[in-house]
Amino acid sequence: MAKLILNNVSKDFGTGRPAVSGLSLEVREGGFLALLGPSGCGKTTVLRMIAGFEAPSDGAIYLGERLLADSEKSLPPERRNMAMVFQSYALWPHMTVAENVGYPLKVRGVSKDIHRARIGEALDTVRLADYADRRPADLSGGQRQRVALARCLVTQPDVVLLDEPLANLDRHLRQEMEETFRDFHRRSGATMVYVTHDQSEAMALATDIAVMSHGKLLQVAPPEEIYARPEGRLVGGLIGRGAILSLALPDGAPRKIDWQALREGLDKPSPADRPMADVLVRPEDVHLSGEGLAARIRASLYEGERYSLTLELDDGQTLRAFSRHRPQIDEPTRVTITGAWRL
Ligand code: ADP
Ligand code: MG
Repeated sequence: MAKLILNNVSKDFGTGRPAVSGLSLEVREGGFLALLGPSGCGKTTVLRMIAGFEAPSDGAIYLGERLLADSEKSLPPERRNMAMVFQSYALWPHMTVAENVGYPLKVRGVSKDIHRARIGEALDTVRLADYADRRPADLSGGQRQRVALARCLVTQPDVVLLDEPLANLDRHLRQEMEETFRDFHRRSGATMVYVTHDQSEAMALATDIAVMSHGKLLQVAPPEEIYARPEGRLVGGLIGRGAILSLALPDGAPRKIDWQALREGLDKPSPADRPMADVLVRPEDVHLSGEGLAARIRASLYEGERYSLTLELDDGQTLRAFSRHRPQIDEPTRVTITGAWRL
């Protein structure tokens, strides 16, 4: 195994706008990278280039020192030692779980002894060791997906690629499968690239998140870092909840905006020589209190453990906040803000 490297990779299908442009990133060995972005931003294209189903128009892809593809040549998928898990994880209904899992080895003509040992290990990793002789029809949806994961492990791939594997599942099964994927990653030690448009899924699963938009990489960082220090409006708006305020800030203001600077920035008109700054405020940093900025509660969404509020400041800007108590809509209130981040 080795780290996966994409160096300035582009893909142009000749449609007038490149599907992927100048994308550089590294996935360390044993890392779990989520490729996150809205539909159509180029995620699947990146995954297909890593797998070898598409060749890059420009740039290069390496596994460690080994060149997998550039604009001149591209190794075919079967010579890359990767496994791709598709959304529809078709299992053979007439085969047992063990036979399904062993199928890729049978096709490759791997010896019977190794065969049996690998199937055992793979089923162990997905915690299905006791299900080897069952048929897919006797399994739950979650168990079937675990069989599909075990099947991709038996060939001992360097990299496991997953393209929105949970997109069609109901919420309950998704949660179960998120746990399965985390467990699978921990126990297999595989390097994983996981495509999703769901930011909460990306945050729950991955060790690193690469945020894409319109074929470009906007930021790559661990989930906690991307949540606390997003780069730019797009990432700020895509990851987590919050509101973006427009503030007048002095030259050289720090990225982390304190309460004092925030108040002053809201009071002031835009400086003539500079545009207003975009500042992200997370709901957990907005506190309803007897003092602070005057605001009105405009909407409230009950979420069980709390209410999620939309507030309107005097100048018409919006904030989000949480409350333990049922709020009065359109009531005046006051808020203090304990954390804000210049985008
Ligand atoms: P995502 O997976 O993020 O939804 P895709 O990688 O599937 O995005 O697509 C990115 C862009 O490239 C889209 O505009 C899509 O229409 C285009 N695209 C993808 N595959 C092809 C193809 N084979 N031929 C032409 N255009 C394509
Ligand atoms: Mg896709």
